[in-house]
Amino acid sequence: MRFYFDNNANTPLAPAARDAWICAIEQGINNPSCLHAEGREARRQLDQVRLQVASGLDCLPEEIYFSSGATEANNVLLNSVWEKRVPGRNKIISSSVEHDSLFKPLMRLAEKGAEIIWIKTDAQGRLDEEGLMKALDARTLLVTLMAANNETGICFPIAKWAPQIRASGAFFHTDAACAVGKMPLSFRKLGVDFLSLSANKFYGPKGVGALLIHRGLEWEPTFLGGNQERGRRAGTENVEGITALGAALNFSLEGHEEENTRQWRLRRQIQEGLKQIKPDVIFHEGPEEAQLPGTLNVAFPGQRGEVLLARLDLEGVAASMGSACQSGVLKVSRVLLAMGIEEEEVDSSIRFSFGRMTTEADVEGLLGVLKRILNGK
Ligand code: PMP
Repeated sequence: MRFYFDNNANTPLAPAARDAWICAIEQGINNPSCLHAEGREARRQLDQVRLQVASGLDCLPEEIYFSSGATEANNVLLNSVWEKRVPGRNKIISSSVEHDSLFKPLMRLAEKGAEIIWIKTDAQGRLDEEGLMKALDARTLLVTLMAANNETGICFPIAKWAPQIRASGAFFHTDAACAVGKMPLSFRKLGVDFLSLSANKFYGPKGVGALLIHRGLEWEPTFLGGNQERGRRAGTENVEGITALGAALNFSLEGHEEENTRQWRLRRQIQEGLKQIKPDVIFHEGPEEAQLPGTLNVAFPGQRGEVLLARLDLEGVAASMGSACQSGVLKVSRVLLAMGIEEEEVDSSIRFSFGRMTTEADVEGLLGVLKRILNGK
């Protein structure tokens, strides 16, 4: 019996996404750039999914750039904004808790002459808002802040900051990989210029995602070749994957409120159970209004996180230490350290992330395993 608590690394595929994917494969979809009937049919299918995704995210169809995921979206966005910068604007503001797919390309831009300002958060993951607004000036090219943190589930109030950031003349981007599908999200109402997402965070397949690009903004393509995605991304579109992404998005938003309430119940159940097993556990979490229920980051004082993880795995629990993106390398979380948490505590921290497919029985299974491991029972 396995208990799956690593939804932030990968969500299970939604049955509707799987069906849509298989159906698209069986249809034998052609290349949407071809002018023959088969190609035109593929174009029709792609246009239809684009409309569906646009309505799910409250954006225009032409604002969607389908990508291979949030990593690509983050990278091409930074490239484009940097290449198109006007003289005098070379400052980029970000946070110290961003995902590596943003953090690393920003470090590269720093080598190319960008001035990167990293705004810190406190231990509850709240960004230093005053520091952000102070850093914002006429030299600011871009502000990029994640909508929800993949290690802690703590959300930044993107919509609240957008007007001031855009009024300064800077572009505003949000990495919403961990937010899309977890809450109804409107590109229009968020008020950002760019938004990144990945389908495998909302019950879709891996290797497909999107960047939303506000209507009318200039774009410098990273991939050159064909004229796909309005000339913004060369390469034959992954129509099958995109079709599954569309179905997954619908699935992830169905009955959102009840699902959210259910996940809060599961979170409380885990937290109460954990406190009974090990009263000194520490939860790295934000205030309730800024916290996604399905991500629970816990420190187990006195334990080595990697040892605990390995034992959990042996006993049937899949969880992780922070980001899964280190390709199998277990490293102390840069994000938790940046929140000002002591290294020893960070080293004892584990992320349990759950979602729509997680049941109360899974939570009981998880708690049973933890009890055996931690109390030797
Ligand atoms: N940003 C965030 C916040 C993420 O959690 C992830 C995936 N862990 C990514 C970007 C990258 O997504 P992908 O690997 O699908 O490109």
